[in-house]
Amino acid sequence: MSILTVENLSKTYGNIQALKNVSFSVPEGTVFGILGPNGSGKTTTLGTITDILKPTSGSYQLFDEPPSANSRRRIGTLLETPNFYHYLSGVKNLEIAAEIKQHGKEDIDKVLETVDLTRRKDSKFSTYSLGMKQRLAIASCLLGNPSVLVFDEPTNGLDPVGIAEIRELMKKLYREGKTIIMASHLLDEVEKVCSHVAILKRGELITSGNVNEILSNEDIVEVSSADNKKLFEILQPLNGKTKVADENSVIKIFFPVGNADLASVNDFCFSQGVVLNHLILKKKSLEARFFELTNN
Ligand code: ATP
Repeated sequence: MSILTVENLSKTYGNIQALKNVSFSVPEGTVFGILGPNGSGKTTTLGTITDILKPTSGSYQLFDEPPSANSRRRIGTLLETPNFYHYLSGVKNLEIAAEIKQHGKEDIDKVLETVDLTRRKDSKFSTYSLGMKQRLAIASCLLGNPSVLVFDEPTNGLDPVGIAEIRELMKKLYREGKTIIMASHLLDEVEKVCSHVAILKRGELITSGNVNEILSNEDIVEVSSADNKKLFEILQPLNGKTKVADENSVIKIFFPVGNADLASVNDFCFSQGVVLNHLILKKKSLEARFFELTNN
C-alpha cells in the first residue's frame, strides 16, 4: 500500500512558484525523507499533504484514496513546536493536547514511555531541555496511535545529544511499524534515519526512491600494490562490469552498489600474481552524490 501518493503538485505564492509538478509516492513502513536546501519547497509539501495549504494544482492520495477526515486521523503531524504551557507538567500538557485532539487519556502513559519521558512527566515543561521539549511534542503526535507521522525538520535547533535522541526515537517508531515522512535539509540525517528520499530543488523534484540506490549508486574498491602498473593491467579485464580508474597511488574499481566483494578482488589479484598492500571499500560520498544531483 502507498501511504501517500503526490501527483503533479504545484503551489504558487503570488509570483513565487514553491512547487512545480511534484510527484512521488511513499511506501508503507518506510522513513521517507523530503530532502532539499532552504526554500526548496519541503514545508510547502508537508503543509499541503496535511491540509494546511491548498495546492494551486495537482492532487494527492492518502492510503490509496482521496484524503478524508478519516484518513487524516491516522496521521500524526509535527510541523512546528506546539504551544505547551510552560508552568504545567509534561503529563498535564499531554492531557490538554489529548482533549484538544479529542483523544482519550488512555494513551498518555504509553506515549510518555515511548519518548522516554516517564521519569520526568511531572516536571514543569519550563524545566525540560530542548530535546525533551521536542520529545514531548512527538509524544503529543503519538496520541491516538496514528500509523503515519509527519515531521518538519524534527532535529532543528537541538544539540548533538538531543539530535541523537530524536533520531533514535524515529528509528524506534519505524521498528514499531510507523511510516514516517520527514523534511530535512541535512544529508547526514537522511542517510542515518531514512530508508527512502525525495530530493527537491527550487520546487522541483530531482529524484525519489530508496536512499541507498539514489544517494550512493556505486561502491568503490580502492586497491594498490608494490607494482601498480601491473595491477592496473591485470584489472583491465574487469572492465565492462566495473570501471577501473588509475588515480595517483591507488587504483579505484567502481561496482554497482552492493556488488563489490573484497575477497573476490583480493583472490583475483593474487591469482594474477599481484599481492595487494591496500584494499578497502568506499561508498561514494553522499555529499558528492547530492551535489551531483542538485547541480544539474
Ligand atoms: P526551509 O528549509 O527554509 O524551511 P523549505 O524547503 O521548507 O525551506 P518552503 O518553506 O516550502 O521551503 O518555501 C518554498 C518557497 O516558497 C521559498 O521560496 C519560500 O520563500 C516561499 N514561500 C513559502 N511560504 C511562503 C508564503 N507564505 N508566502 C510567500 N512565499 C512563501
